Amino acid sequence: MAKVVAVFGATGMQGGSVARALLKNSNYKVRAMTRNPDSSKARKLNKSGAEVVKADLDDKSSIDAALTGCYGVFGVTNYWEYLDKSREIQQGRNLADAAKNAGVKHVVFSGLENVKLLFGKSCQHFDGKWEIEEYMAEIGLPYTSVRYSEYMENILGDLKPIKGPDGVYYLDIPVGDHPIHSISAGEAGVAIVSVFDNPSDYIGKKIGLSGDLSTLTETAEVLTRHLSPLQFKPGNMTSEQFASLDFPGAADLAVMFEFYQSGKMVRDIELTRKLDPNTKTWEQWVVANRDQLMATFKRIK
Ligand code: NAP
Repeated sequence: MAKVVAVFGATGMQGGSVARALLKNSNYKVRAMTRNPDSSKARKLNKSGAEVVKADLDDKSSIDAALTGCYGVFGVTNYWEYLDKSREIQQGRNLADAAKNAGVKHVVFSGLENVKLLFGKSCQHFDGKWEIEEYMAEIGLPYTSVRYSEYMENILGDLKPIKGPDGVYYLDIPVGDHPIHSISAGEAGVAIVSVFDNPSDYIGKKIGLSGDLSTLTETAEVLTRHLSPLQFKPGNMTSEQFASLDFPGAADLAVMFEFYQSGKMVRDIELTRKLDPNTKTWEQWVVANRDQLMATFKRIK
């Protein structure tokens, strides 16, 4: 009989990819968790075969009810909605407690490391996810932590290049020329399904998902090679300059970029490719998304 997996964030980037990958596999049934079952994304999931259930990570009773009869749970918390570490931790605890009470056999949680412990500076959106991982271990939940890298998709949004007066597109990401891990979050769902497929191999493990490790110079070279005649170069933004940018969470992201440069962020390209042999490198992702990249960058003034 197909196993029911509740997918949090199914209307978003990570969970959406997990839901799509599970829906292609007859061993699983998807229960898509959302605060708004009437949204267009929720309705699309329902049309694709998912059961859509209303649940809010801030409301434990709603999760308790929604997890009844589930074999597995994919959990993701969204720090960026409230920029509140305590609230994110409480959401993760609510998810963990509800999964424990419902007797869920395997929780795959989107965690991250404790930057404060590893690097000495607090990074709210990382440290909170580590505290959730710790809580899951403490209550004896059968869980796997999957730690994503920088999304490749960020180049289309939050990390879009800046067009210089010379017409060159500059990648203004404060990482110097240190190699950075990246993953297509929109495709990583296939690897997550492999984790669900092999519980005895992965319960109790932390898996660092990555499709590539490249410097900003290499990142820009790939873009220039495939998006010609557009040209790309690394920018020279420092983390201090990034921290003072005028948007909420800029300082927290600046610490993350410093942490990236420390080399203490461990990801495993080989294991990611074992979980999904079609995991894309940066170059493969750029080639596959060339049209969308081109259209997005041409709109940059
Ligand atoms: P996303 O695309 O912005 O979508 C957020 C999802 O979270 C939506 O599906 C939303 O569902 C759901 N959600 C938010 N609050 C909820 C609540 N209270 N109860 C139930 N569901 C809730 O998010 P994402 O990119 O998949 O994941 C965001 C997380 O990824 C962040 O915490 C971030 O730190 C982490 N991350 C990001 C990167 C990166 O490079 N961007 C890398 C590693 C980790 P509804 O609105 O339908 O309820």
